[in-house]
Amino acid sequence: MPANDLRLLIIQPTHYKAPTDRTLFKTKRRQMVPLALPYLAALTPPEWKVTLLDEQLEDIDFDAPVDVVALTAWTLHSYRAYDIAKEFRKRGVKVIMGGPHVYFNAEEAAEHVDAVGVGEAEPIWKEMLEDAAANRLKSIYRATPLKELNGLPAPRYDLLDLKKFGPFRTFAVQSSRGCPFVCDFCSERFYLGGRYRWRPVDEMVNELKLIKNRGSHFFFGESNFGGKKSRAMELMEGLVPLGIRWSTLWSSNLCLDKEFLDLARKSGVMHVNIGIESIDKDILDGMRKGWNKASRYHEMFENLRQRDISYSLNFIFGFDDEDHDIYRATISFLEEHKVPAAYFNILTPTKGTALFNRMEKAGRIINAPEIDRWPGQICQIWPKNCSPKEMEARIQWMYKKFYSMRSIFKRLPFPPRTRSDMSSWILDLTERRMAFSSTGNNDFDIY
Ligand code: SF4
Repeated sequence: MPANDLRLLIIQPTHYKAPTDRTLFKTKRRQMVPLALPYLAALTPPEWKVTLLDEQLEDIDFDAPVDVVALTAWTLHSYRAYDIAKEFRKRGVKVIMGGPHVYFNAEEAAEHVDAVGVGEAEPIWKEMLEDAAANRLKSIYRATPLKELNGLPAPRYDLLDLKKFGPFRTFAVQSSRGCPFVCDFCSERFYLGGRYRWRPVDEMVNELKLIKNRGSHFFFGESNFGGKKSRAMELMEGLVPLGIRWSTLWSSNLCLDKEFLDLARKSGVMHVNIGIESIDKDILDGMRKGWNKASRYHEMFENLRQRDISYSLNFIFGFDDEDHDIYRATISFLEEHKVPAAYFNILTPTKGTALFNRMEKAGRIINAPEIDRWPGQICQIWPKNCSPKEMEARIQWMYKKFYSMRSIFKRLPFPPRTRSDMSSWILDLTERRMAFSSTGNNDFDIY
């Protein structure tokens, strides 16, 4: 490989539409400007000439003159990532791979690429590139999680063609990693480095100031923006003078904290996604999420509404102790409380979780290697109270019911009066389109 003239192509693969439809999921534009690509570019030493490629938006030229290809993938994109690797390796190009998928599937990925980077990129990225250049790649590089998130470089958005991301583009950024909670079904806390850590406020604010030249909408793509309240408050104080608009995910307990919500509103929050998971207290206790207070959901929603903060709720279905009427009861609950947006998920045992181990031991996983590989809500377990197909049908029913025009008019103010009303209408009409499409409903905007 020629020294001082090293060409690195970093690809975020798209995914195939279905096991029976191997066409690629493509869009002309995306709303979310991804973080992984420009951040990996920022970590790359200057002797490399870096090109970034988001395959959802652009096609890959397999004959492009490159020395190393790096793939960053979720499990949804893994099959496509392996096919991309095969094409480049056929042409003698070294391929390395990282991202959430390989955290639990390193050995599998190592069969398809020259080297796999497991865990956070910072401790291993430079070494992997040096080894690739020197033709001495090891099969697997395992990162020790960072103790602190100080001094991280600013993402290289200058390497992306931002025209492809639409006029209201939202920049994915990250101010923390990990989560202080330990929900039974959640794998994020493993591949995001375990312990909850956060970036210094001044570094985060300076980074946002730089990005602001390119757009002023941000998505804090992290497990729990408010995992440490005092630090989140400090950050939000720093956001106030920036005059930005932002959205994120945070835990339900913060919706009962008026001081937190007031500052969030003042600092420009537009939308928050909350994993409330169930309206049933016993189900919440069973998933180690008893701190979601079902008896106080109404109060939470009112607190958000009074501050004109748009929100969406995540639900999970498929638990053994579920009442057979939980689906209908949840829709009634959401309509009664005029909840702007919601996502309905089937309980899925992701590798590495306690849930996976229990389900596997009980022989209740249908096909473990296929978990999370395809878009849409696919039942991967043998539910206790119905068949997998019935479970999928119930979730589809919920989406269609919740995003029917009848339900939307029941839940959202018409005409929209506030900024939050408007964003809820846009979100619901987008979700409605997906709910009634044939390809399922979780083609989420990856970051
Ligand atoms: S609060 Fe969210 S991110 Fe944290 S462990 Fe639970 S599900 Fe995972």
